[in-house]
Amino acid sequence: MIEEADFKCLRCGHEFKAPYEKGKIEERFCPKCRSNSVRHIKKKL
Ligand SMILES: [Zn+2]
Repeated sequence: MIEEADFKCLRCGHEFKAPYEKGKIEERFCPKCRSNSVRHIKKKL
């Protein structure tokens, strides 16, 4: 199941949404600074 999740760049602090597939680890890049120091932000329910 693919859902949209929030990610945050640790380098520039930019937050963005991207499709996220559970159980699948992908390397992500910040669309702003192209850093790969991107962390998944868990949704608050
Ligand atoms: Zn960034």
